[in-house]
Amino acid sequence: MVSTNVHNPNDLSQPVVGRFAPSPSGRIHVGNLFSFMVAYIRAHQKGGSCVLRIEDLDPDRSKQCHIDQIFRDLDWFGFEWSGEAVYQSERTEAYQEAFDALDSMDLLYPCFCTRADLHAAQAPHPGEEFVYQGTCRHLSHDEQAEKARVRNPAYRICVTNDEIVIDDAFQGEHHYNLQGSSGDFIVRRCDKTFAYQLAVVVDDAYQQVNDVCRGIDLLSSAPRQRYLQELLGLPEVTYAHVPLFLDEEGRRLSKRNNDATLSYLIDSLGLTACQILGYIAYCSGMIDSWESVSLSELIQFASLDALTNTTSIVWKDPSSVK
Ligand code: GLU
Repeated sequence: MVSTNVHNPNDLSQPVVGRFAPSPSGRIHVGNLFSFMVAYIRAHQKGGSCVLRIEDLDPDRSKQCHIDQIFRDLDWFGFEWSGEAVYQSERTEAYQEAFDALDSMDLLYPCFCTRADLHAAQAPHPGEEFVYQGTCRHLSHDEQAEKARVRNPAYRICVTNDEIVIDDAFQGEHHYNLQGSSGDFIVRRCDKTFAYQLAVVVDDAYQQVNDVCRGIDLLSSAPRQRYLQELLGLPEVTYAHVPLFLDEEGRRLSKRNNDATLSYLIDSLGLTACQILGYIAYCSGMIDSWESVSLSELIQFASLDALTNTTSIVWKDPSSVK
């Protein structure tokens, strides 16, 4: 266990570095904006700053037009970040190095299971994480070579039974055991794309991020990321998982919730950037009433206390509120 690297949020000699890590598979939505706001407010209230990373790992889903729109939207809302944006599509060598380091610890193995095999083995209930049962962990070299003739393998990392504690700034202490919560997980996909879990820890360390603020849907990824940080000797980060916005039926916001898209708020309702920031700050309890506020005003006046132990917030069409 690497304990010397733990980031202590109360240690003011280490500046707080938060991050925005959008995936350019579409326009940012209210949930992304909310987590960017909180990341920004947290870092700046502690005298720190944020960095930007474009998570364009997945070549099939990432589009240049979405990257351009992300920059326009971040600018329009007034977000600033230190340094140049990092693009995951340009970081393959760094991921390969981390992959090789894990491989040299004899922790990786090829997995030939198809999606259909995995679903046949276990169909997770909605909201439940998939737990890999280790099917390919003990294949012999001959079996691996035989299977590799018909299928490119993904690579999984062996996990242990040790307890991993995530002491989340908003969601409190969560105890995990990776064997029970995810099983051996993928670090490189069968199309040779490095997996999100690996890329994110390599990049957070590279960008000197020490405060990871994002949606609570990623809380269950935190123990996998902590595990990789420990193995790779990377600094631990503080996690702060913000509640998810849900629609009035309690479902995650998605494309069917047009009233939560930026194009609806900006183009149809004609709201300004500060009105939208103020609305989200008001809905999440950071401010007491819906006012038009800038990011710098939020840094001065917003309280993030209301986010503690809250897992969801209902999104209401602002035109029904005003
Ligand atoms: N790129 C991910 C997203 O847009 C966020 C990943 C992270 O914050 O770790 O949902």
